[in-house]
Amino acid sequence: MGNVCSAGCIGCMLCTKQCEFDAIHVENNLAHIDYSKCTQCGKCAEKCPVKVITLPKA
Ligand code: SF4
Ligand code: SF4
Repeated sequence: MGNVCSAGCIGCMLCTKQCEFDAIHVENNLAHIDYSKCTQCGKCAEKCPVKVITLPKA
């Protein structure tokens, strides 16, 4: 489980709705990416209003 936003995540869930691969989930107002499912498409990072999602370079 990747910890996406150690600071700044507002738990808005927008990223979870963007993900086509069910790879991102918000728990306790903190988003986590399952890197085994994530294709690094970048949609979640694009939609995040506080820009806290960073993806590892492929
Ligand atoms: S980069 Fe794409 S596949 Fe990965 S968590 Fe974000 S929306 Fe989902
Ligand atoms: S879109 Fe950004 S602020 Fe909203 S839940 Fe996802 S990581 Fe957190």
